[in-house]
Amino acid sequence: MQLVNPQLSIKNEITLSIIVPVYNEQEMLPVFHHHLAKVLSTQPESTFEIVYINDGSTDNSWNTMLNLTSHYANIECINLSRNFGKEAAMTAGIDHAKGQVIILLDADLQDPPELIPKMLAAWRQGFDVVNMKRSTRLGESKFKRWSAHVYYRLLDYLSDVPLQKDVGDFRLISRRVIEDIKQLSERSRYMKGILSWPGYKQTTISFERPERVAGETKWSFIQLVKLGLSGITAFSVKPLRIATWAGALISASAFLYGFWIVVKTLIFGEVVAGYPSMMLIQLFLGGVQLLAIGILGEYVGRIYAEAKARPIYLIMDKEKSSMINSMEKKHG
Ligand code: UDP
Ligand code: MG
Repeated sequence: MQLVNPQLSIKNEITLSIIVPVYNEQEMLPVFHHHLAKVLSTQPESTFEIVYINDGSTDNSWNTMLNLTSHYANIECINLSRNFGKEAAMTAGIDHAKGQVIILLDADLQDPPELIPKMLAAWRQGFDVVNMKRSTRLGESKFKRWSAHVYYRLLDYLSDVPLQKDVGDFRLISRRVIEDIKQLSERSRYMKGILSWPGYKQTTISFERPERVAGETKWSFIQLVKLGLSGITAFSVKPLRIATWAGALISASAFLYGFWIVVKTLIFGEVVAGYPSMMLIQLFLGGVQLLAIGILGEYVGRIYAEAKARPIYLIMDKEKSSMINSMEKKHG
């Protein structure tokens, strides 16, 4: 017997919200939208909206989006006042989505819209979260694949929240989970962690992640490292604990070594030597101390950002499909 999701939409309510963060994707947007609209047309039982968030693009992405709203129905465009980053753009989308269920998609077709029917089917069976796991990553350098592999495992070890390995932001989330996520008001957003935090009934579907169709990746190596660090500090205090344990271990060895030096001096007298060992120990301890202060600093920095409590994003303009607008006018 097939279970029916108790949260299935009441008539005329939006079933599905697709959230698409966009940063300099002018050549991708028309191709992407055409592709997505084709897939959605195979799902006549679902009413949908597509929320595009322009994350301060410096190219013509905003106008391209506006152009889409005059040709297609059910589009909402949000223009952020500058580039706030993908995590903030997705948060804006989540805050604006009205659907019973939302799906986060990249604009470069690396998260294939063809999988949407499969995701919706899993939701209809009663799952609240459908994670999309990358079984292979095409068109990415060996180094990026390897570092992503190591990073996901490191994060899983460090994190206090169970995080899905090799699952990016591409996933489906039901309304009740969205309402919970909206209560997480932290300023530095690590969405993979935030989206995993509520738990609920989850399932995972594997897919082959294709290459970007046009344009190039928006993440530099440094940005990826920053995102990675923010992921670790956002969801774990283990680095602090590791620093504490390392301190304890080094103090214990220093004590034993000190004891040995006292005994040695009493038995053999003092020989003035040992410049290399002295230097080595000083440099080693200096390094460990700086590292520990650095780790501490990462957390203090996060507290600072949270204490300022600035908005996560700012919206400059909003626009909806003219077709929805004209319907609203008729009803209003
Ligand atoms: N993106 C964004 N703001 C940014 C960087 C990226 O909204 O500051 C969007 C981008 O337009 C795309 C998605 O996030 O829709 C994923 O970006 P990208 O394809 O560059 O990442 P990758 O697939 O290489 O991890
Ligand atoms: Mg991409």
